[in-house]
Amino acid sequence: MKKIVLNKELTAKREYDVIVVGGGVAGCAAAVSVAGKGKSVLLLEKTNLLGGLATIGLINMFVPMCNGRGQQIIFGLAEKWIRDSLKYSWQSMPSEWEKTGSPDGTNHRYYNHYSPNIFALQLTEEIVTSGVDLLFDCIGCEPVCEDGRCVGIITDSKAGLEFYGCKMIIDTSGDCDVLRRMGVPTVSGENYYTYVTKMLTLDSCKKAIEHNNIRFATYDYHGGSINLFGDNQPLDMPRWSGLSPEEVTDYLVRNQIEVLNKIRNDDRLSRDIVTLPTMPQFRTTCHIKGDYSLKVSDAYKHFDDSICAINDFEHRNHLFEVSLKTITRRDFPNVITAGRSASGEGYGWDLLRVIPPAILTGQAAGAVACQALDEGVGVADVNVSRLQNTLEGENVMIHFPDEYIPEDRTVIIHGKSHLPEDDIGHI
Ligand SMILES: Cc1cc2nc3c(=O)[nH]c(=O)nc-3n(C[C@H](O)[C@H](O)[C@H](O)COP(=O)(O)OP(=O)(O)OC[C@H]3O[C@@H](n4cnc5c(N)ncnc54)[C@H](O)[C@@H]3O)c2cc1C
Repeated sequence: MKKIVLNKELTAKREYDVIVVGGGVAGCAAAVSVAGKGKSVLLLEKTNLLGGLATIGLINMFVPMCNGRGQQIIFGLAEKWIRDSLKYSWQSMPSEWEKTGSPDGTNHRYYNHYSPNIFALQLTEEIVTSGVDLLFDCIGCEPVCEDGRCVGIITDSKAGLEFYGCKMIIDTSGDCDVLRRMGVPTVSGENYYTYVTKMLTLDSCKKAIEHNNIRFATYDYHGGSINLFGDNQPLDMPRWSGLSPEEVTDYLVRNQIEVLNKIRNDDRLSRDIVTLPTMPQFRTTCHIKGDYSLKVSDAYKHFDDSICAINDFEHRNHLFEVSLKTITRRDFPNVITAGRSASGEGYGWDLLRVIPPAILTGQAAGAVACQALDEGVGVADVNVSRLQNTLEGENVMIHFPDEYIPEDRTVIIHGKSHLPEDDIGHI
């Protein structure tokens, strides 16, 4: 086999306090958070739109941000952005949640479907007006490390390989691209046969006209349609980690051909597929093996180092707090992650990765990175009460109120019951 050695001298094109790799919702939140604290920040996004799965992945729904009993749990930038998603596009938010403030007692959950394309445009505006330096069409490839610290990142773009220096890196690539390459221990996931496109038909257009609401004009149209838990995954179908171009291509080709086969026999004048996802719709590719991993049995526990309270999006009542340790690795002091690659076990990973919690861990990662720079410490060693004060000042709920804990603390996930550990004191 032919072997090559890459030997190229690169001078830093610019030095930043913080570089954020990946402009999904977690990366956008992290970048906005850093810029808001007066630090210089570069956001690298390999595609041409911001939002990641929540926009170009066509996953256009903020899952519920309440406990299913009328109390809102998820606030912070997730609250701002779910509200933004109502501004210029159609919506599906239950009417009692449209006004701000929790409509105590309602069983309707606080969620919203939105136009992914309009939301992507709003994110672009938010990022550029926040003072973030943004580079589209630019891949963060190789982290450069000296004495155990990351000193910058090599990028690949139309300009070829370039180097940007930084004091802190936030990896929000969704796949741990940067941290994995630095040698941070990671855990890879399995992804099922799932592929969502947006379909429009003459009938759906008629429905939109009847309701005078464009929301009804398009709907989800699937290639593979296996749910979160992998129920009904065909036995002859692989599961993909999504961490190699061969796997990504195999997943995409199978799903794209399936969609084509499904529409082949329809009347071609009666329908169109209006949008295809332009990133693979993998739920769980890779997360860091963080200093702590969120588990289902952590339900109702208070963490002294909580960075946000979150709720289970599928099941009512279940409440969690996210430890700072889920996004840090003590042995890697100037790197941090958020969003899909925060550390969670099993369904604990699912709780962390969906859109509202991904925004909150992104917001927290930005605050941690800035504070670590100010305090001259590693990300795992920031002063926690100062961090919590900062986040509370940005409208994040750090600890859920004890009165929201139901009498029966049994947690049932996908038909299986888990009893949270008896000790629900602070850990
Ligand atoms: C099928 C499916 C259904 C889902 N349903 C829901 C739902 O209904 N509601 C909900 O809330 N959540 C849902 N989710 C989960 C949710 O969409 C994602 O987990 C969440 O949006 C993740 O955000 P993120 O920012 O962490 O990562 P991502 O959205 O993956 O963003 C990562 C970004 O980084 C960019 N990037 C990657 N590598 C690099 C690199 N090296 N350099 C530069 N840029 C890079 C990518 O282009 C992307 O923009 C679903 C997910 C899937 C797959």
